[in-house]
Amino acid sequence: MNNTRVKVIGAGLAGSEAALQLAKYGFDVDLYEMRPLKTTGAHTTDKPAEFVCSNSLGSIDPTNASGLLKQEMTILGSYLINVAKESQVPAGNALAIDRTVFSQKVENLIQKSGKINLIREEIEKIPPDTPVIIASGPLTSDSLAADIKQFTGSEHLHFFDAIAPIVEKDSINFDKAFYASRYDKGEASYINCPMNKQEYEKFYEILTNAPKIELKEFEKDAKFFESCLPIEVLAARGIDTLRYGPMKPVGLVDKRTGIENYAVVQLRQDNVSGTMYNLVGFQTNLKWGSQKELLHAIPGLENANILRYGVMHRNTFINSPSLLEPTLQCRKRKDLFFAGQITGTEGYTESIASGMLAGINMARFLNNEDLLTLPDITMLGALMKYITTCDKKHFQPINSNWGIVAELVADKKIKKNKKLKTEMLSNRSLDYMNSNFNI
Ligand SMILES: Cc1cc2nc3c(=O)[nH]c(=O)nc-3n(C[C@H](O)[C@H](O)[C@H](O)COP(=O)(O)OP(=O)(O)OC[C@H]3O[C@@H](n4cnc5c(N)ncnc54)[C@H](O)[C@@H]3O)c2cc1C
Repeated sequence: MNNTRVKVIGAGLAGSEAALQLAKYGFDVDLYEMRPLKTTGAHTTDKPAEFVCSNSLGSIDPTNASGLLKQEMTILGSYLINVAKESQVPAGNALAIDRTVFSQKVENLIQKSGKINLIREEIEKIPPDTPVIIASGPLTSDSLAADIKQFTGSEHLHFFDAIAPIVEKDSINFDKAFYASRYDKGEASYINCPMNKQEYEKFYEILTNAPKIELKEFEKDAKFFESCLPIEVLAARGIDTLRYGPMKPVGLVDKRTGIENYAVVQLRQDNVSGTMYNLVGFQTNLKWGSQKELLHAIPGLENANILRYGVMHRNTFINSPSLLEPTLQCRKRKDLFFAGQITGTEGYTESIASGMLAGINMARFLNNEDLLTLPDITMLGALMKYITTCDKKHFQPINSNWGIVAELVADKKIKKNKKLKTEMLSNRSLDYMNSNFNI
């Protein structure tokens, strides 16, 4: 069966890792990369696995969510994490790389494998007659995006992130926040953070003075939909716009006080286990430091642990909960896998991780072996579970974070101790990985 050729589209972070994994299993790979014939607007070289912005893959500390993911990837034999370690520059607890050295080493590995044919060509349509991994990234070319849209159905392809922050439920102060549904209709499943006039005015001042992240040139033609405007854009329309929009207080009475407040921030459950809540209608492009200051000015969120910050940028991604298995196999075409940021995993490390998994699973699929699914006590398993099973209607890309992993069975005192909790979560995953994999 190993004489099957696999097509991998995109020699970015995910595609390069997927191709190297397939080569390790003995498969021949045609790895298609459209650069330098056509560029994305963000890439500047013709090299594989280019880092388009920061040169950091985030923490290496296993008690950090991204650090744990890297450890799991090392155990599973990730090529690019290994290359990153070889290309490391000093950056404290973070794994930062010399991007030129990194890409050159990845290119050398591709060449040395003897199994990967790096072809400079834009793929405009999903190849119909051969096993394929699509790893064309957040800036997938227009023609391929149009074909993916046709294959998946137009409602399943998104072109822009408009992400609201997510906080950890255990860090919300319920002396102030309360559960209620508007006009008491249905289950009281929303968490509400109430504000009086003074608190609202302070919040508004922080918001309107906060610095925003500038959109890149290639992002400027992407128009925001009126229904998902960033809060800072709404706030610029006038002091009361938010109180008539996402912070509308009407019908939300705090039963403890009987008061309908001046403004309310609502939080909606984000994952099945109920450990993560997103701020409804709070998509934002503020700098992260400002987001933290703003969120901590909301009564009830003074000490909120922010699991994901809001972002807005050009990003092509599929609706993975509708389309993919946690193995990254496409539900309606078994010899098609997706990998990288296009699946809704956000970040360099996460893109490599899903490339690794897609490569391993394509190889297992072609060998008629069981596909690899990790449990959600691991960061990689939790990430795959989240992107393939979360609410389809509100799906937005996510990076590794503690909110998505299975809850710890431990008493409340331990759960409140963040350091101890993350140590236990990390050890739980690494025990599992070390006893199940010896690659
Ligand atoms: C502007 C920008 C900045 C970012 N900054 C960061 C950051 O600082 N830190 C972070 O962790 N994450 C960042 N990300 C998010 C993400 O981690 C990176 O985009 C990452 O490179 C994604 O990996 P990937 O393999 O999915 O896609 P990519 O690395 O982009 O690889 C996709 C490859 O596919 C090629 N391609 C596209 N269409 C076709 C086609 N039709 N045929 C052939 N080839 C094609 C592209 O040229 C590209 O080489 C950023 C994203 C963007 C867009």
